[in-house]
Amino acid sequence: MAPVESRRERWRAHGRRRVLWSALAALVVALLVTLVWLAGRYEASQVQSRLERDAADAVGDIRSRLTRNLQSLQALQFGDPKPVAWTGEATALLRERRELLRIEWRDSQFGILAQAGTPYRPPVFERLGRDSVQSEVTQVCNAARRISGPAYSTSYFVPLTDGLGIEVMEMCLPLASAGVVMGYLVATYSLQDLLDDLARQLTRSQEVAFTEGDGTRLAMRGTARRTSRVFSAQHLLDLPGTTLVLRMDSWRGAPDLFPNVLTALVTAMSIALVSILLLLGKDMRRRLKAESDLADALAFRKAMEDSLVTGLRARDLEGRITYVNPAFCQMVGFSAEELMGQSANAPYWPPELADEYKKRQDIRLAGNVPPREGFESVFMHKDGTRFPVLIIEAPLINAHGVQTGWMSAFLDIREQRRIEELSRASQDRLQATARLAMVGEMASLLSHELNQPLAAIASYATGTRNLLQQGAHTLADVDLAMHRIAEQAERAGKVIKSVHDFVRRRDQAREVVAPQALFDAILPLVNLQARKLGVQVQLRLDPGLPQVLCDRTMVEQVLLNLARNGMQAMDRPEIRRRVLQLGVQRVTADPRWIEFSVTDVGPGIAPEVAQQLFTPFFTTKAEGMGLGLSLCRTVIEQHGGTLAFGPNAPQGTVFTFTLPAGQSQAQLP
Ligand code: ADP
Repeated sequence: MAPVESRRERWRAHGRRRVLWSALAALVVALLVTLVWLAGRYEASQVQSRLERDAADAVGDIRSRLTRNLQSLQALQFGDPKPVAWTGEATALLRERRELLRIEWRDSQFGILAQAGTPYRPPVFERLGRDSVQSEVTQVCNAARRISGPAYSTSYFVPLTDGLGIEVMEMCLPLASAGVVMGYLVATYSLQDLLDDLARQLTRSQEVAFTEGDGTRLAMRGTARRTSRVFSAQHLLDLPGTTLVLRMDSWRGAPDLFPNVLTALVTAMSIALVSILLLLGKDMRRRLKAESDLADALAFRKAMEDSLVTGLRARDLEGRITYVNPAFCQMVGFSAEELMGQSANAPYWPPELADEYKKRQDIRLAGNVPPREGFESVFMHKDGTRFPVLIIEAPLINAHGVQTGWMSAFLDIREQRRIEELSRASQDRLQATARLAMVGEMASLLSHELNQPLAAIASYATGTRNLLQQGAHTLADVDLAMHRIAEQAERAGKVIKSVHDFVRRRDQAREVVAPQALFDAILPLVNLQARKLGVQVQLRLDPGLPQVLCDRTMVEQVLLNLARNGMQAMDRPEIRRRVLQLGVQRVTADPRWIEFSVTDVGPGIAPEVAQQLFTPFFTTKAEGMGLGLSLCRTVIEQHGGTLAFGPNAPQGTVFTFTLPAGQSQAQLP
């Protein structure tokens, strides 16, 4: 149930985060679009106002040009010129001022006194005829006379001979002398050429034109390129008699994404912002993934800890418990809450051992490193039962390499102990069985050995009875006979006792024993067999040997087994001198060990036999059990020693084994 809920919770959080992120992204995009738009608008207004300024300047320029022309035209009349001279002057002026197409000197009745045309064009009124515009001229001159100053006509179109045409405008200047109008100067302006002068100041993306009220262009100058983004400014050129509209257009190159530095800057910053947002989002995703990985790892760790049968406990440097796993709680019967924060006198310490444990803990907290293989201890369950544990401790190191406490692992070794006990018991049983088997094997020897004293006893008894029946002998003879009987009975008793001792004695504990004592215990039994097989037993003990620390019964059994094997090996007709040597000496390389040896002069051990010598139930004898050597080796190894064998020179086999030295005899009181 819990994991499903937590997953649902996680999904809900995920959804919420997604909505927040989308809102943030939308806001940022809206903000950026607004910024770019504002920047664009600002830039457009800049362009527009520059254009307005340019248009105003252009109007000013035209006005001053017209004024200058007016002055030049007035200058033509200075000194009352003759028509011929006037024409020359006027032609010169026309050459100088391109926008002037024609200058006429008319009398007060509008008759032409003199005239001059621009040298730059073919005669303008050739096709139309000058008379056709007479009414315009009259009109403008009347207006000029009324205002006593120059007047301009509305513009009109003049078709040319080449099929095209131009827009022109008349200017009339009344020539007055003492308040009386003597005549007029009529100048015809080409609107197109009036713009030429301005055109030089224009940029490539500007166009200037005179337009009518509805926007129709009358004359224009500039690049005729058109794009979507056009800015235009209109200014009125007020002239006496007419008003011209000057329109200036300007356009930006397409595509007009970044109209100026500001917009570009804002756009670049926006892109940077969006990139940062994206990166942040990516980083966030990575974090979330790491978070979920961590959660998974934690869940995995928890599952692992919960499944452990090993108890785990962490302590800080003050000895307070900072962590316990479920296995530990189960082991000691206390809950994690009961254990957390406990330091001295933990509730699972048996009260009788608490002092000792406290000391141990102090040593540990003082920085003493515990043995890596662990140590054994006894804990107490909440219900009071004591149980053995194996504790393995290691320092707890944090991410910065600083020790923050100790981590301990606990193994409940109750079961292990039980199994060890079982195995020891079965080993003991096996040993006992082997001993009995050995004695069983010796039964014939025993009967033979017992037969002798029994036969002797029987014959002494018979002899005594005869003596008593005859009645002729003294009591001293009877006494001697009884003494012999007693001797033989004692001898038989000894034999029985040695067997009994060997079979029954079972002292578990290790003890220090003199090597001689070990031999003394087995020699009666060894001799039994030796006598039967005609073997001479030799005993060689180094003087001043230390005692050995061993399980006496077991080692005696080993010695007896090796001696018996050696004698049996020599039981062959071809072997005449049968000698069994039993020896003890110190190990020269390491005086802490004592080496026992059993040497025979038998046929030796064939390699194929040697391979299986210690395999249980391996035997080459008809009545053998094959357990002897495998048990011998187990016994010696339990003592920490080794059992080995090798050939004896010139023939036979040597079995050796080592046992730890106890106190030296010389040191004994
Ligand atoms: P068992 O004596 O019951 O056969 P052991 O484990 O004592 O069992 O011996 C196993 C075998 O090792 C013997 O059957 C014998 O063949 C061989 N063996 C042991 N000691 C000697 C020895 N001193 N010389 C030759 N062979 C030996």
